[in-house]
Amino acid sequence: MNRSGLIAAGLRAEDVIGKSFDQTFWWSYSEPAREQLRAAMARAADGEPSRYDVQVRVAGDTLVWIDFSLNPVHDVDGRMAYIVPSGNIIHERVLAKEAVEAAKVRLDHLAHHDALTDLPNRMLFQYRLNQVIELAYRQGRQIVVMFVDLDQFKHINDSLGHAVGDKLLRSVAQCLLGCVRHSDTISRQGGDEFVLLLPSITHPEDAAICAQKILTALALPHYIDQHYLHISGSIGISIYPDDGKDGETLIKNADIAMYFAKENGRNNYKFFKQDMNDHAVQWQSIETGLRHALERQEFVLHYQPKINLKNGAIIGVEALIRWQHPERGQLTPNQFMAIAEDCGLILPMGRWVLREACLQAQSWQRAGLPPVIVAVNTSALEFRTKDFLDNIRTVLKETCLEPCYLELELTESVLMQDAGPIDAMLHTLADLGVRLSIDDFGTGYSSLSYLRQFPIGTLKVDQSFVNQMCSNPDDAAIVSAVISMGKSLKKRIIAEGIETQEQYELLLAQDCDEGQGYYFNRPLEAQEIATLLQTSSSLIAN
Ligand code: C2E
Ligand code: MG
Ligand code: MG
Repeated sequence: MNRSGLIAAGLRAEDVIGKSFDQTFWWSYSEPAREQLRAAMARAADGEPSRYDVQVRVAGDTLVWIDFSLNPVHDVDGRMAYIVPSGNIIHERVLAKEAVEAAKVRLDHLAHHDALTDLPNRMLFQYRLNQVIELAYRQGRQIVVMFVDLDQFKHINDSLGHAVGDKLLRSVAQCLLGCVRHSDTISRQGGDEFVLLLPSITHPEDAAICAQKILTALALPHYIDQHYLHISGSIGISIYPDDGKDGETLIKNADIAMYFAKENGRNNYKFFKQDMNDHAVQWQSIETGLRHALERQEFVLHYQPKINLKNGAIIGVEALIRWQHPERGQLTPNQFMAIAEDCGLILPMGRWVLREACLQAQSWQRAGLPPVIVAVNTSALEFRTKDFLDNIRTVLKETCLEPCYLELELTESVLMQDAGPIDAMLHTLADLGVRLSIDDFGTGYSSLSYLRQFPIGTLKVDQSFVNQMCSNPDDAAIVSAVISMGKSLKKRIIAEGIETQEQYELLLAQDCDEGQGYYFNRPLEAQEIATLLQTSSSLIAN
């Protein structure tokens, strides 16, 4: 027997000489190694040579791999005479093999996981989903698939850079992992889309609880590169077997439901319903149509008067976009704005609205009408673009509108971004002379200290409170609290969505300065506003 063979057996030369094979080779290695040897010896005894790699421990506890063989030698009559064991140290070869194996495992992992978040990817998700469906089919159980899409993620990516966007996605992945059970699967499908598989949910209500938990967790600020980033998500839920018998359908339907959550104002969840399919087709066609609407000049602005509640004078108008759809007629913002935000088209649309509104305000003035402030709705997405301020300055200059006649209606979500840069931007705008107001006030989470710090002139009490204030004492209390708080912070207060005389009178009694709503006027065409400005000094019927 050669040296490696001895090492393989963990023996010294003197251990072998003069001893029988059995006595010699009954070493103390691991049970699998012994098993291997037993089998090899049995084969050798039958005259069959065997060869295998075995890992053995040699002096100093080093592990080496030995290419070990047992070769039977036959006598001249063909009978088995003795067995020759031999071994060669092959640890480099085996180590290389191990490296290849490790690389294979790694590649396999990469093929099934998302490189950024290390979550299972689309392929692995599909595989697990199919497996779980099979099991659920046999056991007659339900499965939940959840499609989570971040709201306005694209903009964070565009404005703060991809490195921040990537970190945010990782942070979101961690956040999602914290919301589900170990047995659930969270995958990243690409972009800002995550799909969850909850195989052990027994009631749809549990899916709702889980979705709400995710929304709450996502809403906490993500601290990334010195930025506190606020993000929300929209979630669509589909349930096996009702909403789809196969994985692909379940994911597609959860995706459709997710779009409805977005359409419903984002930061919420929706369960899939069969009639959503038709709407999803419409959604797609709206997105396609929107892409051409600007160049085909299909947008128009309508203007709704804002009035002084005490004397009925028109103090301003709010520009509200309408889309003259070639086939579907006039569409209002809630039918297309969410889609426009989602695909980024809101940015060129917003620039068009601003220019058009300023041109219109200027043209009313040139026609000799009493000057009114024109208010333009500004989404958080637009506000965050780098050239937002430059664009305002350029438009004001080119349209020759004095800045004091332009008002920007911001949403509370604008104030919830990084306080530093927002503060600077708001002050620059205020220094320019542009007026600022907070739209839909009361529906977001404005911090009161921000209200004091930022140069916001006006709070627009959200119409949902106004709408209910005569029937619901809680809403009446909120309106009254906003009015008195606004006054003590020296803000103007405007109530939107006034529809009835009762609401108007109640607001007046609570000392609300200004109002807007169908009770006075619906949004009107520019020409109708001109007529109104020309003919009536007060919109309040005596
Ligand atoms: P908003 O800024 O809160 O505008 C008020 C909405 O309430 C308008 O709906 C208006 O027509 C409606 N309204 C006014 N008075 C009443 C009333 O008495 N009762 C009821 N029920 N509704 C009333 P609209 O035009 O459909 O716009 C909806 C939202 O779309 C706007 O809400 C605004 O957030 C957004 N939007 C409209 N135009 C633009 C735009 O040019 N840019 C951006 N970013 N958003 C816009
Ligand atoms: Mg508004
Ligand atoms: Mg509003």
